[in-house]
Amino acid sequence: MEECKRCLLLESAREDVFASVQEHLQKIPESKKAPEALYRQRLALCLECEHLVSGTCLKCGCYVELRAAFWGQKCPDAKQKKW
Ligand code: SF4
Repeated sequence: MEECKRCLLLESAREDVFASVQEHLQKIPESKKAPEALYRQRLALCLECEHLVSGTCLKCGCYVELRAAFWGQKCPDAKQKKW
């Protein structure tokens, strides 16, 4: 499978992984979820980031679509936090 730089799982061919992440997203309690606008804003910043490869943040190894969904999470880039 070809590596997709600067894309989210939503846009990649990794349908199996995307489905799994969606399943996890649905299990996050509302009290722990980032508001939708904040979630979208975070993902837009990840899309501009050089550390995003195939939906994965190379700084932490997380799928950004999952990490960004949690209210209390932060961008893991210690040198240049983007969100
Ligand atoms: S370093 Fe931050 S902005 Fe870049 S992909 Fe990871 S979470 Fe997103």
